[in-house]
Amino acid sequence: MDDCLFCGIVARKVPATIVHETERTVAFRDINPVAPVHVLVVPRAHVTNAATVGPEHAEDLAEMVVAARQVAEAEGIGTEARGYRLVFNVGRDSANSVPHLHLHVIGGRQMSWPPG
Ligand code: AMP
Repeated sequence: MDDCLFCGIVARKVPATIVHETERTVAFRDINPVAPVHVLVVPRAHVTNAATVGPEHAEDLAEMVVAARQVAEAEGIGTEARGYRLVFNVGRDSANSVPHLHLHVIGGRQMSWPPG
């Protein structure tokens, strides 16, 4: 999608620190991290958000979750002793700001629940 920020990162037209890639996904560091590890995993194909995901996106979704685990392992937080949070934001109440599906991989510090 021409005017999509994360499509631009996938196409290497917008700079980002890419840390992991698979056939269907790209993972890069969040520009405004909320924790020592904050990586976004996106599908290469444009999908607006989790509310627009359908059965046709099953392979993208599965690969995103696997990629998130691989990122967590590479960052040293994919252990039972550590751990991490996976987040999809949808809509205004969640503060979703970029309309290209992305899975936040957040970790490296103790988090609380519920989120703010
Ligand atoms: P969300 O609120 O779920 O839409 O999250 C969007 C995330 O994208 C935020 O955490 C932003 O900090 C992050 N972000 C925005 N622009 C960029 C960028 N150019 N490179 C990396 N991360 C970005």
